[in-house]
Amino acid sequence: MHTDYSYISVAVPLPVFGTYTYAVPEPLQPLIEKGKRVLVPFGNRKVSGYVMGPADSSEIPGIKPVEDILDAKPLFPEEMLPFFQWIAEYYVHPVGEVISEALPGGINLGEYLTLTRTEAGQKAATADSADDTDREVLNIIGNQSLRIKEIENHLGRNVSQAALQRMENQGWLKRRREIRGGRTRPKTERYVAAKTDRPDTASLSEAKKEILESIQSAGKISAQSLNQLAPNASRHIKALQDKGFVQIYEKPVYRDPFGDTVTPDTPPALTLDQQHVLSDVCREIGNGFAAFLLAGVTGSGKTEVYMQAAANALNLGFSALILVPEIALISEIERRFRARFGECIAVLHSGLSTGERYDQWMRIVNRESPIAIGARSAIFAPFSDLGLIIVDEEHDASYKQESRCRYNARDLAVVRAKQSNAVVLLGSATPSIQSIYNVASRKFREVNLKHRIYRQPPPDIQLIDLREHQGTRGIRRIITTPMITAIKDTLAREEQVLLFLNRRGFASFPVCAACGEAVKCKNCDITLTLHKGINAYKCHLCGYTRASVAKCDICGASSIKQLGLGTEKIEEMVKNLFPDARVARMDRDTTKRKGTLVKILKDLRDRNIDILVGTQMVAKGHDFPNITLVGIICADLSLNFPDFRAGETTFQILAQVAGRAGRGTQPGTVLLQTYNPDHFSITAARHQDFISFYKEEIKFRKIFNYPPYARMIQLKISGKNLDQTKKHAAAVGEACQKLKQAAPAFQNTIQVFGPIEAPLSRVANRYRWQILLKSTYTKPLHEFIRALIFEYGVSLNHKDARVAIDVDPMLMM
Ligand code: ADP
Ligand code: ZN
Repeated sequence: MHTDYSYISVAVPLPVFGTYTYAVPEPLQPLIEKGKRVLVPFGNRKVSGYVMGPADSSEIPGIKPVEDILDAKPLFPEEMLPFFQWIAEYYVHPVGEVISEALPGGINLGEYLTLTRTEAGQKAATADSADDTDREVLNIIGNQSLRIKEIENHLGRNVSQAALQRMENQGWLKRRREIRGGRTRPKTERYVAAKTDRPDTASLSEAKKEILESIQSAGKISAQSLNQLAPNASRHIKALQDKGFVQIYEKPVYRDPFGDTVTPDTPPALTLDQQHVLSDVCREIGNGFAAFLLAGVTGSGKTEVYMQAAANALNLGFSALILVPEIALISEIERRFRARFGECIAVLHSGLSTGERYDQWMRIVNRESPIAIGARSAIFAPFSDLGLIIVDEEHDASYKQESRCRYNARDLAVVRAKQSNAVVLLGSATPSIQSIYNVASRKFREVNLKHRIYRQPPPDIQLIDLREHQGTRGIRRIITTPMITAIKDTLAREEQVLLFLNRRGFASFPVCAACGEAVKCKNCDITLTLHKGINAYKCHLCGYTRASVAKCDICGASSIKQLGLGTEKIEEMVKNLFPDARVARMDRDTTKRKGTLVKILKDLRDRNIDILVGTQMVAKGHDFPNITLVGIICADLSLNFPDFRAGETTFQILAQVAGRAGRGTQPGTVLLQTYNPDHFSITAARHQDFISFYKEEIKFRKIFNYPPYARMIQLKISGKNLDQTKKHAAAVGEACQKLKQAAPAFQNTIQVFGPIEAPLSRVANRYRWQILLKSTYTKPLHEFIRALIFEYGVSLNHKDARVAIDVDPMLMM
């Protein structure tokens, strides 16, 4: 049956809830498909929206028509619409914005203003009646039509609206609203094909004959390759086409995001443990929804299981999606998958250029890639036939997006698998409390890999009580004597050392010894961190940077002490202690430039590095067989954060870092320096024992009614003015209380906490307040939020303050 598309519902990527109905002019109707973009009038603008499906409400008066259809093919399969709708509902986010979040950047249309010069303007450009700026602007525009920003770029300064208005009034300028397509188009390459009917070649020159023969023997060939065969070919092919011998055409090509080549591998024979896990998982592929938690110690061969499970899904004719926490890890996993599966892999992450992302996306849409690997946003990969979704390191906080639509890709993987009747496999050595709880409540099935691949013993973890070294002076208070001895011994055996401290920079607490005042960020409520390499203070929240100063801003004394540790300081200390060792550092500062991270990893693998100092970046998933000593400089940094997950995060990161030791044939040692040797997060990490950690932690969650026992939505209220932000937060808080009192259904189900000032009370010049909503179930929370917005008219984009809705919040600060 043919769908009637005389009216359609359209989602627009604007902060408005719901979809809108538009009429489709007769000639466009056959071209309408779900997942295509249409150009529609919205208010007094034009925007590109997404076709969600047919609409029947022809009754609405003044319904506006669709102006154009922007895509020849849908940008995503229609099977994804329910997924987008689910996200919009659950995260209380406009569905149009959810879709534009999902799509690769660079394809959305924008409306913008351009300026052109009139004939009078051309005269004025050289006339005395215009002032200097007028003349400059008119000359820059010339005969083009330019955006204000382009004019300002040329001019090197801003142009006031008043000046533009004046010039328009003089009749020198015209303003026009224009629509511009996204920047990203398929990239094409020129090809030449021989025609099969062969006219007589007698009239051709020798050169042309030769070229024609090359084309004929290839059948079709890219202009570039042809030029390599016959250097002057490009000069002749146009003539050959005109004479009817060949045809020239453009063929879309994909930009290759991969760097070097990878040698193919063959799957190893699985261990018995791996076989059990694989057969449990694969039995379910193609048989509807199933969710597994794979708890497997570090180095137990999880990645191998992922690859064979994906191969299995592909054999059954399904696609497979693999999510990895961060770009840093993608390179490693990507390398291993490419060695196994070759070029059919699509990769999606923010490290790609807009064009590359678009190409990878279209390969999936066009069913050329049955496997995609990517970070958080790859959960939106446009597959229509998913059989398997894998989430590696499922406990990782980077699956949560902390801006715009605050989704959690780990949780969405379960939702998408359910909607696609697929299998989802969440893997980790340190599973999240939430996922273990889901096993306990039978939502997930647990599968285990309890041993390392060659049954290497787990690393021996020894605690060093930092309280006992407080009296020591200098370096040895920070890198203690037993730690120094262990490093020395490891280097003597020509093995590698990893030193971990989860804070970058040189000194995180620069403070004036005379007046006691700390050096603070001018935009945020935190101290700046000294970065010695660039000789500057940096804010780790907003990026504000200032040159390092010798004098205190407050009292003027030249006595700033660089207290507080960072990886940069540890690196310097280690270099002093071991002048002959090759020391490198891996953190966000040293890996900013493209390729630098891969270089460090490669140097480590090739043993060009003896000691690697790093932040949590080193903790993640890497497999370095020659690292036999891991030193944790201070295990307690994250333990005292005002966040109910502080213990969980600390346990996970320590267990993960410790897991980097002894992955090869030599046994590994971990030295863990701490002020809290008896804290259960630390004692459990010592044995990578997520079960005993869970048993302790879950008691605390229950007593204080935190997730997984409670569901939470946090309202994050922020604004530029302290008083107005506070006032708006109070108003939202009052609305919450009123709503709760008014509806008996909410009285017993919803708890409202706050408004309170956020622990980070100011970030990037915005003052921050919070309201926390808690309930045993999600449904009343969602109903509460909707009532707040739609019945109580609580504005999310108030002139004084923004309210961000954070469902299942991770960052509580
Ligand atoms: P995990 O992902 O659990 O940390 P990996 O999959 O990286 O573990 O496996 C650790 C190491 O063991 C890797 O070098 C991997 O190539 C190797 N490995 C995994 N499975 C096998 C197997 N069945 N036989 C031999 N080596 C294996
Ligand atoms: Zn700042």
